[in-house]
Amino acid sequence: MSEYPRVILAPRRDVSVRRRHPWLFSGAIKRVEGAPQSGGPQSGALVAVHSAEGEFLAWGHYSAASQIRVRLFAWDERDAPETTGFWRGRLERAIAARQPVLAGGSTTACRLVNAESDGIPGLVVDRYGDVVVVQYLSAGADVRRELFDELLVELLHPATLYERSDVDVREKERLDPREGLLYGTEPPETVEILENGLRFGVDVRHGHKTGFYLDQRDNRALLRAAVAHLNAPTVLNTFAYTGGFAVYALAGGASAVTNVDTSAEALRVGRENIARNGFAETTVEDIEGDAFTVLRALRNQKNRFDVVILDPPKFAFTQRDVKRAARGYKDINMQALRLLNPGGLLFTFSCSGAISADLFQKILFGAALDVKCDAQIVGRMTQSSDHPVALMFPEGEYLKGLICRAVQ
Ligand code: SAH
Repeated sequence: MSEYPRVILAPRRDVSVRRRHPWLFSGAIKRVEGAPQSGGPQSGALVAVHSAEGEFLAWGHYSAASQIRVRLFAWDERDAPETTGFWRGRLERAIAARQPVLAGGSTTACRLVNAESDGIPGLVVDRYGDVVVVQYLSAGADVRRELFDELLVELLHPATLYERSDVDVREKERLDPREGLLYGTEPPETVEILENGLRFGVDVRHGHKTGFYLDQRDNRALLRAAVAHLNAPTVLNTFAYTGGFAVYALAGGASAVTNVDTSAEALRVGRENIARNGFAETTVEDIEGDAFTVLRALRNQKNRFDVVILDPPKFAFTQRDVKRAARGYKDINMQALRLLNPGGLLFTFSCSGAISADLFQKILFGAALDVKCDAQIVGRMTQSSDHPVALMFPEGEYLKGLICRAVQ
């Protein structure tokens, strides 16, 4: 194994590696041996991680710039992680695991590869029909881009392979943002997908993430089911984006939906999605504006709703943001609870990894207490099944949600 550089850990810093956590931070490393050049291994290079006593522990990809100095993905020395077959195997495993989501044809879009949690650090692959969108998020994934591109074409036969590596996390790896066509034909301006039998237009070039919030698919289905049990409820869809929850609410039998978003363009696409599914546009009202003020204004105008959805963007990017973010979550949840009719439901989310499910529940408790709303938790939500969380990698769980019922 001497052909690869060896990362030697400081004494007693082997615990997380033995627990198969995929991130090795720079502080745990004593020294690096066998790098061909004096500056250490090249970014993205395959390295073997050894304990201070010299025992082999894991294979990983080195990232010279990042605090996450090595991303680990194999714990058996006999693995041959620099072969095409190794990565083909990992991709096949991840893709096969999504078959239950795509089987039957009523859903044509889902995440196929969820990075660390699928044993392929830094690689995200989303399918939108025959358009496949890829994100290279770490140095290790980035230097192997040609191999992954080729394997994805071989395994998925897409009409289009498109890159959306235009995300901030690449800065931490000192990688520039990249986007554009990798293979096949340019994607259409709007890719039409089916999700649980409903139609959505997705702009894979400019849309958020890789175009659509695929992680909310299962929760949107829960909303549809909940709405169907109510009697033609009114629904307030805050942080609506392109109206994912709105379309599901109408499919469940909602009598009226109000979408709130700061983005006029997102609301416009949301309208198209309503029409795409054959629902009357008159059942939908759009409010372009800041949810923090719109929720207050709705309350002042004495509006009430049977169902309120709160799906804000990430408020906390790091541990340092948690306090400020918690205040933001509390504020919008207070406003939302005040807008609920008795017996109404609040679908409330946080996609901030730094806000734990426990803390989120405490925030909801504080909000309910302050507005004197007796509320019950009637459901708990997380990211959809195609965004799995490896047990060894709890950081992979970022989306949490509560379904709360206002008792009075
Ligand atoms: N629920 C959506 C995803 C929401 S993403 C779905 O299922 O597809 C978050 C959305 O919040 C984005 O569309 C963004 O434009 C919007 N947004 C961000 N800050 C906002 C604010 N202060 N008020 C209202 N909308 C906001």
